[in-house]
Amino acid sequence: MSRPVNFSAGPSMIPLSVLESLAAEMVDYQKTGLSLVEVSHRGAVYGKVHEETITLIRELMSVPAEYSILLLGGGATLQFSMLPMNLLPPGRSADYINSGAWAHKAIEEARKEGVVNVIYDGADENYANLPSPKSVKPSPDAAYLHITSNETIGGVQWKFFPEFQDVPMVVDMSSDILSRSINVNSFSLIYAGAQKNLGPAGVSIVIIRNELLDRSPKNLGSYLSYAVHAKANSLYNTPPVFPIWGMKLVLEGVKRQGGVEVVARANTQKATKLYEAIDSSDGFYRCPVNKSVRSGMNVVWRLRNEILEAQFVKDANSAGLIGLKGHRSVGGCRASIYNALTVEDVDRLISFMTDFSARNR
Ligand SMILES: *Cc1c(COP(=O)(O)O)cnc(C)c1O
Repeated sequence: MSRPVNFSAGPSMIPLSVLESLAAEMVDYQKTGLSLVEVSHRGAVYGKVHEETITLIRELMSVPAEYSILLLGGGATLQFSMLPMNLLPPGRSADYINSGAWAHKAIEEARKEGVVNVIYDGADENYANLPSPKSVKPSPDAAYLHITSNETIGGVQWKFFPEFQDVPMVVDMSSDILSRSINVNSFSLIYAGAQKNLGPAGVSIVIIRNELLDRSPKNLGSYLSYAVHAKANSLYNTPPVFPIWGMKLVLEGVKRQGGVEVVARANTQKATKLYEAIDSSDGFYRCPVNKSVRSGMNVVWRLRNEILEAQFVKDANSAGLIGLKGHRSVGGCRASIYNALTVEDVDRLISFMTDFSARNR
């Protein structure tokens, strides 16, 4: 069976070895005679998976001891609400940087919970740019400052992050977590849904500085409280056991490859090649994003008109390259080149792009 190369934005490609392990052990998990998805989440068999997953995140991202790592349901979207519910007290305000579609959603949800200041609005530049980290000035007494490290739809990515002494930085890392080394200490809270770089949809990770747990209001619904989940080590209720199992296998794969640094090198190579192919096409392909903030994960480009773009996507599909249609809100083409895609996968796309441009110039 030949599998297509999957450039989908999310859910997205999962390493074949992970899918094969899940399939092989679905019915009989490690000779227990039972599936992992039918045993108690409080039993020893699942308990080991839970602990190992958290330990792997801590190890691979060098998460310091002053942070808790939570495994939660609800996707990154739930975090858009949970974050202000926990960290934005009445009478204070939170700063947000509007860098694109996902930041915009985070802002809209936060506004339902409290006062939001948008301190940079990328709409002015059609979301093709980001502020320089040095130019970011939080409001006095901001409860936190929220950024989106990688805009999955617009294809912009922070290469360096603003750093502050007094304002907690919060980052949505859903689409570039574990794609490059980051300094966890630069942030007070990091959150990410699993289904781009970490595994099957259904679990999100939240990495939160312990001192912030004191902010969770006591009268908040239990599931919505970071403090409740942290105290229970993410076993307050039944955790999403299947995606956590998948995520553990993905993390083990990253560790076997040599860790985040090694994965990051391949990611740089993939993105560099693909942007070079776009930039050297004499305008046949055009990337609308400012060069200094082009995403290493979601590469977006346009062709000269929408008819040709549709043809590109269709021909690519026939060639076994799927998921290249841009998000419906922006159009164009997009290749999501997450960790699971190899340099060879990207080479196949580039060679298709070269052929397509020669045929349709
Ligand atoms: C996909 C994505 C989300 C939403 O994730 P869900 O798990 O579908 O809620 C949020 N932020 C970013 C940056 C994303 O890429």
